[in-house]
Amino acid sequence: MQSNQEEVPLKKFMSLKLKWSVGLGTGVLVIFTIFAILLYQSFATLLLQQEKQYARSAISTTVVRLEALNSELTTTKVKKELMANIQAFTNARENESTKSLPFYSDSVFVNLSRKNIGISVYNLSGDEVFASRKAQVKFNKNNDIQSRVIKKNGHTIYATTEKVRSKQTNQLLGYVQVTNKLTDYDTTMNKLMLVFMIFGLAAALMTGLACYMLTNWLLRPVDHLNETIEEIKVDKEGDALAKVRVPISSQNDELTQLSLMFNSMLDQMQGYIEQQQQFVEDVSHELRTPVAIIQGHLDLLSRWGKDDPEVLEESISASLQEISRMKSLIQEMLDLSRAEQVEINFKNEETDAWELGLQVFNNFRMIHPDFTFVLDNDLKKDTMVQIYRNHLEQIMIILMDNAVKYSRERKEVHVSLSRDSKYVQIAVQDFGEGISEENLKKVFSRFYRVDKARSRDKGGNGLGLAIAQRLVEGYHGKLTVDSVLEQGSIFRVTLPLMNKK
Ligand code: ADP
Repeated sequence: MQSNQEEVPLKKFMSLKLKWSVGLGTGVLVIFTIFAILLYQSFATLLLQQEKQYARSAISTTVVRLEALNSELTTTKVKKELMANIQAFTNARENESTKSLPFYSDSVFVNLSRKNIGISVYNLSGDEVFASRKAQVKFNKNNDIQSRVIKKNGHTIYATTEKVRSKQTNQLLGYVQVTNKLTDYDTTMNKLMLVFMIFGLAAALMTGLACYMLTNWLLRPVDHLNETIEEIKVDKEGDALAKVRVPISSQNDELTQLSLMFNSMLDQMQGYIEQQQQFVEDVSHELRTPVAIIQGHLDLLSRWGKDDPEVLEESISASLQEISRMKSLIQEMLDLSRAEQVEINFKNEETDAWELGLQVFNNFRMIHPDFTFVLDNDLKKDTMVQIYRNHLEQIMIILMDNAVKYSRERKEVHVSLSRDSKYVQIAVQDFGEGISEENLKKVFSRFYRVDKARSRDKGGNGLGLAIAQRLVEGYHGKLTVDSVLEQGSIFRVTLPLMNKK
């Protein structure tokens, strides 16, 4: 089948799997990063706190020592004061600069012996008079005396400064600055950063991968669906719709349901197509006979018949008969096709079943005086059923016409009209040839006739019951039949009553 619909241009294709995987991976990365930052900062604050503590403890110990002095700090005084208890340790550190002679052996300073802590003492003019190791941060006495964290050559340094006042006179003697080079802190934090980065990326990648695998598995039915559609689309032999179906996965989720629905839709479509083909075949078959008959007569006339008034007369009348058959066939086919659309076009129609039943019954009594018609009407006037008047009439005519057509010696037709709380039932009974059990279902099929030749003789096309059934079903009713061969048949129509407002 060639579709003349233009293909809708699609935006650049991006697989759902990829979207979900990238989306979820990025999501995990973002969440992980936020947590990592929070964790990193709390950890940094905690570590820094500890390092600051060392520096503060060093500075306060030094200041307490120097407070004992009464005049401005000088190298000699400071050294003397700070190194009061040094003995053997001094000798061991002789080769160090004079200014930075060790004082670590002092009991108070032992805990300051950490290699990262540097203590510098300055006089009132801000010149260095003592340094435990080379000062890492420049001292400026005009700066506010404060504690600060400095980044220098990729290292973090904590520096804290304090004034030294004589304990006795409260006179300013100089300044002490303690620096703590946070090497451990830097290494730990760098390591932590690295670990976070590796873990974050690994988590994002793994989530993405897991998501891809999961969606790949979950979306398998969609792939199957696509493959099936593609197969039907590119099908050249025209039998893919009948053969190809979506494989049903064992997942049993919404997508499985979708596949099942899709398959049942394909079945339905295939059914429609087959019905359509069958219909075209049936119609051509039905039309072939009258056309052949007319052609035969015309041939006859064209050769020699036109000069023979008898042949002419007979041929014309036979052809006219066939033409009228064709006309009725076409009319019935139209009726059948319209009967399919009843639900859409006539859903709000209503008819008085009592009145219409009576009317059709009387008409038949008039047309077929040789028949006995019996009416058993349990309905009251104004028993409204949900159906378009002409359609109910058509249904009754089809059934009563058949009852007359297929009656034999006993020319009797019983019509009964009854109701319950929801439905009205119209039954048409005859005492004719009846229908065998195997034919009972088939009589509702289009063009089906139990005895084709006999039915044709009686002007039947095999469409009457098909039309009646479609009409009744279009109004949400039912058409059923009970029949015993050689005894007769009873056709029952059930139609919904109009809701009383
Ligand atoms: P037709 O135009 O041939 O009557 P229908 O669709 O009305 O077509 O009926 C289909 C076939 O069902 C008929 O050909 C006939 O064989 C059978 N049939 C219908 N009504 C009756 C009946 N009342 N008694 C026996 N056979 C019937």
